[in-house]
Amino acid sequence: MKFLSVDDSSTMRKIVSLALKGAGHTVDEAENGKQALEKLKGISVDCILLDINMPEMNGIEFLRARKSVPSIANVPVFVLTTQDEEALRNEAISLGAKGFIVKPFQKEALLSVVNSGI
Ligand SMILES: [Mg+2]
Repeated sequence: MKFLSVDDSSTMRKIVSLALKGAGHTVDEAENGKQALEKLKGISVDCILLDINMPEMNGIEFLRARKSVPSIANVPVFVLTTQDEEALRNEAISLGAKGFIVKPFQKEALLSVVNSGI
């Protein structure tokens, strides 16, 4: 499958990318929500892994913005964040996020959540 990893931390993008590539997937990267929206004009992906705290456009803003882009409105999004807060979780889910993964995470946990939710 084709993934898009959206995170302002290059280290985190690398960790996500290595885990998914190791499982046979392909991964594109974006540094924030705005860059992800730009990138998604030119490529199609099966799943988006989304950080919340990012400059330019954060994860919540991205979840909201993607609703008005028909080509990506239904692509599954999993939120990856260090903030394990119920209010944030509920907001992300209400905006259509399929799941929530708290950083730091084990590679196996990421793969199993992603596999079960697509
Ligand atoms: Mg961040």
